Amino acid sequence: MITLDHQPHCRWCDKKIRKSTDYHRRRTYPSMGAVDVPLYSKADCQRLTNQIVLSLRYRDAPTKWNDETGQSEPTGEPRQVTEFSTWDGKSYEDDLFCSRLCAEFYGRHEAKLSGNLKRGAT
Ligand SMILES: [Zn+2]
Repeated sequence: MITLDHQPHCRWCDKKIRKSTDYHRRRTYPSMGAVDVPLYSKADCQRLTNQIVLSLRYRDAPTKWNDETGQSEPTGEPRQVTEFSTWDGKSYEDDLFCSRLCAEFYGRHEAKLSGNLKRGAT
């Protein structure tokens, strides 16, 4: 993990390098000060943290069985957040490569270009 003031791009494929994020699941919410408080929105999650809330995962909206139609139907209650991710605004997975594979491609490419360069050779 690395801290930068801008999002780096992979030196091999030029893809943006992933932000380094933390995931918060329902069972960890209490440690963030949310005790048995249902979360329904990004704003609800944002209140629990000083970091930037990036993405949310929801549980399916509650449904109930309707005997007349023979189908389950939404109860109208809002769906709840089960998981969300936060980012500190400056941490990335890496400063050079998006993946180990790109690092390997880059290394192989450079090795071919540099001829007989051997590790430890002076
Ligand atoms: Zn890459």
